[in-house]
Amino acid sequence: MDAFHLLDPKRGRPIDPGLLSDILRGAGIGKGGPHIRCPLCRWRPGPGDRWVCGCGEIWNTFRTGGQCPACFHRWTRTSCLACHRWSPHQDWYERASDPDAGA
Ligand SMILES: [Zn+2]
Ligand SMILES: [Zn+2]
Repeated sequence: MDAFHLLDPKRGRPIDPGLLSDILRGAGIGKGGPHIRCPLCRWRPGPGDRWVCGCGEIWNTFRTGGQCPACFHRWTRTSCLACHRWSPHQDWYERASDPDAGA
């Protein structure tokens, strides 16, 4: 297979800008950088990692909170490029208050 992994094909709604900012703020984006890791294997995606939408768009899904910048489909689950398992998008954002965040 290729290096990309299809995201959840379920239909979604365009993400609300307010919700996106909440997600990004919760993830610490804008104040020291995002803390994103696979909730299953703890792989951390880098800025060069890419996901592909069913519409063919290829982008870094964590820059948009899981929303495709081309068709505005919002992906509620994200596949891990390391362990190839699926997790809810929001579970990827490591929160400082998480007990398993590494302190
Ligand atoms: Zn798309
Ligand atoms: Zn993983």
